[in-house]
Amino acid sequence: MMMKKTTRNVTLIPGDGIGPEVIGVTRRLIDATGVQLQWEEFHAGASIFKKGIPSGVPQETIESIQRTHCALKGPLETPVGFGEKSANVTLRKLFETYGNLRPVREIRGVPTPYTGRGIDLIVVRENVEDLYAGIEHMQTPDVAQCLKLISRKGCEKIVRLAFETARAEGRRSVHCATKANIMKFTEGLLKQVFETLAPEYSDIEANHIIVDNCAHQLVKKPEQFEVIVTTNMNGDILSDLTSALIGGLGFAPSANIGNQCAIFEAVHGSAPKYAGKNVINPTAMVLSGVMMLRHLEEFEAASTIENAVYYTWEQANVRTRDVVGDAKGCSTSDFEAEVRKNFGKRPSQAPAREYRPIKLPEKLTLETPTSAPRKTIGVDLFVEYRGSADSLGQLLTELTASAPFKLKMISNRGTKVFPATGANPDTVDHWRCRFIWNQSGTDLPHSATTALCASVEGKLRWMHIEKLVEFDGKLGYTRAQGED
Ligand code: NAP
Repeated sequence: MMMKKTTRNVTLIPGDGIGPEVIGVTRRLIDATGVQLQWEEFHAGASIFKKGIPSGVPQETIESIQRTHCALKGPLETPVGFGEKSANVTLRKLFETYGNLRPVREIRGVPTPYTGRGIDLIVVRENVEDLYAGIEHMQTPDVAQCLKLISRKGCEKIVRLAFETARAEGRRSVHCATKANIMKFTEGLLKQVFETLAPEYSDIEANHIIVDNCAHQLVKKPEQFEVIVTTNMNGDILSDLTSALIGGLGFAPSANIGNQCAIFEAVHGSAPKYAGKNVINPTAMVLSGVMMLRHLEEFEAASTIENAVYYTWEQANVRTRDVVGDAKGCSTSDFEAEVRKNFGKRPSQAPAREYRPIKLPEKLTLETPTSAPRKTIGVDLFVEYRGSADSLGQLLTELTASAPFKLKMISNRGTKVFPATGANPDTVDHWRCRFIWNQSGTDLPHSATTALCASVEGKLRWMHIEKLVEFDGKLGYTRAQGED
């Protein structure tokens, strides 16, 4: 799973809120296995934002991960809805950890509505693209836009990671969960890449599932899934759901995997209300440490801790408040002591899996020939306008009368509103105006686009322009709802 290194240095980021507690437990348990690790402790998150570093990740932390290629990280706080970007997302992107593995497995002794169903699945979440590329623009004072960026390369990496993870863990099936029925190009690209690559992994059953049905099926019959590969936001949401199936965020570990670096962290956040109270469940972070040990090919130490954690839960002498309530909950440190005491014990439900290193996709094969013919046949001009669709249509027709374009249609929030369709959707001040270049057969020159923009200048405020391109004879844009 990782390139062989001579030293086993690991960057340790304690994190915010409950981070230092769960990281402390994990570090001590790992050290107690006798495995030889050199911890390099560095910081990121709230304390760094407070120092005025907007990324939340200082240079010395970046340099440490560049040296170690491996980090164990506590949760980092992110301001919600305003202020700085997430330091978590920054770390994932800086080190191109393109895949986020989020396994969940039923733990005996942790009662849930699914007890006895044998849930044992892993969500493989794309980790750096999608809406989380964080490319957002206010289009008008009232309309915000976020770009959903999905690349063929990103899809290939994540799909191969999912199949390779299935192979390394002896799993038999992979589901690809997308919303390709609605987002034909973005979510559709993942589906297309999945279906193209699946025959290379003929030992693994490959299924596509619409993501909303996947959520439904996960609640109804979670045991049918082994590996679910999905885009970033879908994976974020589905993996919180899957963690709840086995007892909650206190039990959900994760690994951010890239070809050069890997960062291990619990799925949960910094749970600030529990910070410093010695009451939270450290299982998720400890199991993230187990994933890290396997990544470092320390399989024996990993199994020692994993078995002890599962044994501890099964014995039920100590259980944290998230499982038994505040009154009966044990302290975090009592839980740690019990796990340490149980080193060498095996739970009756011993984790049966034989782990092998995951073979990371070093070489990608899905290259699209850049020489494939493409033709620009028009543009979508996005304008701000307060008025009716008809009045905007009339105004644009007049303003662009001498331009070499035909105004094909105007849509508002994706629905065609001009020429009128008879329907009467509510509108906002953000309009997409589709102009088709009237010299079909030739490629639209930049000068024509510039002239089109110039013709509305001073009369209408335009925010951005998208070219309407045909790639190899196929439309590279979607029609509006109601457009023929
Ligand atoms: P959260 O910190 O995950 O906490 C949500 C709830 O989950 C807690 O109130 C608690 O539920 C439960 N919980 C979480 N960890 C637990 C544990 N170890 N043991 C037992 N219960 C646990 O989510 P949040 O409140 O939405 O986010 C807080 C901050 O964390 C935010 O700044 C957010 O941006 C950040 N965050 C960071 C990461 C990351 O670093 N990867 C991930 C997610 C969120 P009860 O209230 O029911 O007890």
